[in-house]
Amino acid sequence: MPDTAFAHALTIDVEGFAESHAQSVHVDDSLLGADVNDREIAANLAVTLGLLAEHQSRATFFFLGRIAQTAPHLVKQVADAGHEIGCHSLFHRRITGQTPAEFRLQLADARNALEDASGRRVIGFRAPDFSIGAGNKWAFDELAAGGFRYDSSVVPTSLHDVYGMADVPQGIFRWPNGLIEFPLPILRVFGQALPIGGGGYFRLYPLSVTGSYFRKQMTRGIPSVFYIHPYEVGPRAPRLPGLSSLRRFRHYVRLGSGRERLSRLLGILPFTTMSEVLVRSGFLETSD
Ligand SMILES: [Zn+2]
Repeated sequence: MPDTAFAHALTIDVEGFAESHAQSVHVDDSLLGADVNDREIAANLAVTLGLLAEHQSRATFFFLGRIAQTAPHLVKQVADAGHEIGCHSLFHRRITGQTPAEFRLQLADARNALEDASGRRVIGFRAPDFSIGAGNKWAFDELAAGGFRYDSSVVPTSLHDVYGMADVPQGIFRWPNGLIEFPLPILRVFGQALPIGGGGYFRLYPLSVTGSYFRKQMTRGIPSVFYIHPYEVGPRAPRLPGLSSLRRFRHYVRLGSGRERLSRLLGILPFTTMSEVLVRSGFLETSD
């Protein structure tokens, strides 16, 4: 979709399928090597980048810092294609299990590696599994102290088993320390706050539900953020053996149709990077 004055933020959380799920289900060590994950990521990123080019859409790619260490060419490829590089922590480990000191060290390593690989400044962060909540708000101070300008890790709901922070605004806001927060969108249905920003929910809901939510927000002039993973767009996602049928459903439902579904969304709605949306909304001075 051609660029217009209004655009939502499109975000891609870059990680391998197995490393993404290693804290939710049992994953065999043989699937967790960087080489295995990087091969899968390379194949899926190629499809994702092709799709964005087709629709002239830009996006923010929140990369794991470890990918910038083991496959820096992938980070450079995305930056050279005109997209924004953000940070998705060093490894795909929830912040809820970390001390402030551990988080600080890994954050610095991740950011340095991503900036070296891309040749660009990295100012945005998203926690693995959106794992910043009421119990670890110190992470926002670490992010601000570490030079980050914005975070997009908060889901304003109390429904999910891992993440959520119910008592925050639903639009873009600033934490008291100045860090900008761009929360994931939620849909209010019968008093419940349902996440509607992408990922597994995008696969679970009919496309029309997601499309009409983002269209309605556009009519209101309120930018929202959508997220997806390369393994939901591209052709490769390894089978994880031993999953319960519920887990299998949750992790694999409609995985094969992600490219087509994302393509349809990009065809009807304008998307750009997080930084660009924050500039257009008056929260950032420049998206460079
Ligand atoms: Zn992730």
